[in-house]
Amino acid sequence: MTSSVKVRERVGGLRLMAVHAHPDDESSKGAATMAKYAADGHDVLVVTLTGGERGDILNPAMDLPGIKERMPEVRREEMAKAAAALGVQQMWLGFVDSGLPEGDPLPPLPEGSFATVPLEVSTEALVRVVRDFKPHVMVTYDELGGYPHPDHIRDHEVSMAAYEAAGDPEQFPDAGDPWTVSKIYYTHGFIRDRMVLFSDEYAKIGKESPFAEWLSKWDPERGNLMGRVTTQVTCGEFFPQRDEALRAHATQIDPNGVFFAVPMEWQQRLWPTEEFELAKTRVKTAIPETDLFAGIDAAIAAGASE
Ligand SMILES: [Zn+2]
Repeated sequence: MTSSVKVRERVGGLRLMAVHAHPDDESSKGAATMAKYAADGHDVLVVTLTGGERGDILNPAMDLPGIKERMPEVRREEMAKAAAALGVQQMWLGFVDSGLPEGDPLPPLPEGSFATVPLEVSTEALVRVVRDFKPHVMVTYDELGGYPHPDHIRDHEVSMAAYEAAGDPEQFPDAGDPWTVSKIYYTHGFIRDRMVLFSDEYAKIGKESPFAEWLSKWDPERGNLMGRVTTQVTCGEFFPQRDEALRAHATQIDPNGVFFAVPMEWQQRLWPTEEFELAKTRVKTAIPETDLFAGIDAAIAAGASE
């Protein structure tokens, strides 16, 4: 890893773009990695596809008069604080939150919401941003959305479509000059091995693990995402920034919840990485990786990209 850092210093900063469905997703999925790359002098942009307008108040302490009424505005303020905590840029793509449909049968998605917008419309909007920001690496969710929310699944679809289209001059010719993204990753947060490791640590001190319930209900079909991970980025030093960003989303995150349960010292000592899956690459790299930009410096040096 040190050698690639040296090379990067020579060629200058690279650009990382993470595509997220709602404000707060960036702070719970790969946040410390983004803070690390920003601190290393790279440009990091979070693109938030929707305004999170249909989010509920998930923190009892924030269930106050007047908050629900001005949710879109509150979430913009929270997002600005979170981006500042991570040291990253952020922009809104302007689509409307589809909400998480509940019931049996599931109700139809609200008209005009993000997941109902034709894919070519949302793809063109994202391609425009890709061609403007010119990321070397994109980060999105896996094909299941990482979590079964229609906006998360759409996030995957639109990101993959934009990765393919942005470099193709024939596609969306009115959305800027072509830019070829070198790599695209899925971010993986719900790693069973990590929960088991911390649960064992709780057992050692005779306390109940905050993950006990999740682990007891774990769907064996869901397996262990660790088998799909190609890339682990060491970023424990940036976990406090991740937590600060999460807390900035005060309506969405309960500060007494499971996100903050595990002692920071355990996290930094026992599992100081965040996990990613290399979904597609146009540069040569060797798996496993420890750096999302692995292989890109060599491609730039060879004049394959800029
Ligand atoms: Zn979300």
